[in-house]
Amino acid sequence: MDKENSSIHDFDFNLICEYYSGIDRQGPGSPESTLLALSFTDGFDDRAHCADIGCGTGGQTMVLASGFPGQITGIDLFPAFIDLFDAQASQLGLFPRVKGQVGSMESLPFGDETLDLLWSEGAIYNIGFERGMREWKRFLKPGGFIAVTEASWFTNERPEEINAFWNDAYPQIDTIAGNLAKMQNAGYVPVATFILPENCWTEHFYKPQEALQKEFLKKHQGNATASDLVENQRHEARLYDVYKAFYGYVFYIGKKI
Ligand code: SAH
Repeated sequence: MDKENSSIHDFDFNLICEYYSGIDRQGPGSPESTLLALSFTDGFDDRAHCADIGCGTGGQTMVLASGFPGQITGIDLFPAFIDLFDAQASQLGLFPRVKGQVGSMESLPFGDETLDLLWSEGAIYNIGFERGMREWKRFLKPGGFIAVTEASWFTNERPEEINAFWNDAYPQIDTIAGNLAKMQNAGYVPVATFILPENCWTEHFYKPQEALQKEFLKKHQGNATASDLVENQRHEARLYDVYKAFYGYVFYIGKKI
């Protein structure tokens, strides 16, 4: 794999962790989009249970907690992210209603049909959209909701540079229609789908990284992995700017029947 086309997933875990611990979100999104997605779900009371899978440091979870009345368990592979998640929940007076737990999305620590809401922003790609839809469904009660964001193609055809980038980083990337079919085939009614507005990438994701990148490079001067990581993120931001008409993040909200 050449450097230009390497993806964030190829870098050292600890460095990634340190880099992303410095920003509110570890993927594109915004408080407005989280609340808009939540508005397509209903029927929850304070006994309801939500799992936020691949929660990161909890940027979206704390917003979700303002509209979801029940228990929220954030699950993430990285203990450092869960520590920051719990610290944030405590600071906001949400702990332990909102609580983090180290775990893998490949073996979730929930019983069958115990969850009312399954949430996952910018993370289902780690298991793959189709597999996540299928495997996570058993944890949801009938009538429960799933809401995930996933990078998606907006068109059937696209310029070669961006096509090659995504096919290398995440070959399973699909069109919105393709993902909706996967959701429906997995046994959900697709209740809503919307494209995350551009500011979810710019204002809420790439922009906050700019100041952080300078500090990170200073701290890790001479470390090729660190400079590659920053260059990789800058490259992704440039690609987004050029090719945003062809892809973006999409919120998929479904109801288990
Ligand atoms: N939801 C957050 C973070 C998205 S980044 C946000 O939108 O800001 C993707 C997250 O998935 C990272 O925090 C990463 O640690 C986590 N992750 C990656 N593989 C995972 C796995 N197998 N199980 C659980 N979490 C995982």
